[in-house]
Amino acid sequence: MAIHKTEAIVLDRKDYRETSYLLSFFTAEFGKISAQAKGAKRKIDKFGTSFLPISFNEIVFYERSRSDLHIISQADLIENFDNIGKCIDRFSCAAYFLELVNAAMPYDERNKEVFQLLLDFLRFLNGEHSITNLAQLFEVKFLKLSGFKPSFDCCVSCSGQVEDKSKFSFVLGGLLCPKCISKDKSARNVMNGTIASINHLEKVDLRQFVNFRMIDSISKELEQLLRNFIDFHIGQQFKSLEFIKKVRFAYV
Ligand SMILES: [Zn+2]
Repeated sequence: MAIHKTEAIVLDRKDYRETSYLLSFFTAEFGKISAQAKGAKRKIDKFGTSFLPISFNEIVFYERSRSDLHIISQADLIENFDNIGKCIDRFSCAAYFLELVNAAMPYDERNKEVFQLLLDFLRFLNGEHSITNLAQLFEVKFLKLSGFKPSFDCCVSCSGQVEDKSKFSFVLGGLLCPKCISKDKSARNVMNGTIASINHLEKVDLRQFVNFRMIDSISKELEQLLRNFIDFHIGQQFKSLEFIKKVRFAYV
């Protein structure tokens, strides 16, 4: 059994038997792992953290060669993002980021860029800035770093230039130029402003994003396009998004 120490963001925490937790982490060194924290529920001082969902910890775990479920021997809290839990919008946005990473990333595949992206966005959510369109910025960056890479800067079929009458193909994962539109009959029209916004979001960092604004029609189309792309390629119902919908409905 090998022993490892790494920084880890809690993606999911479930009760496991009477006294333990079953945890999913995204770690700096090993990517997504699942591990058991034995006795963590019974003795709160056994670990230096209670593994709250939306927390950043340092963990030591035993890697079990015949099982994907590792055993945590030590853990310390680094950050618990207190402010996120005080605002329902920030909390549900953070929950969605964690759920998306958990659903899309394979086990045991190191991806330092995705780890840093998730950490940076949780820190941003923990601050005071507006979070309008933050989910779309995260989606654009995450899809690129995790290998899904929807093609928005050129035609996904012939790599040619995309022009005014391009359509987006969810099946092929990108824009189709007018010559290639027939390759997917279900491809949908997309506004030029939406394509420009996605290409812009790919380049900006969180500091530049603070002053970024989109008009409503583009913002709505962008949200829908990314949502449908993720539904098509990842194919999971996100509990956090159902929750966001319910909260929005309650306020209308
Ligand atoms: Zn083409």
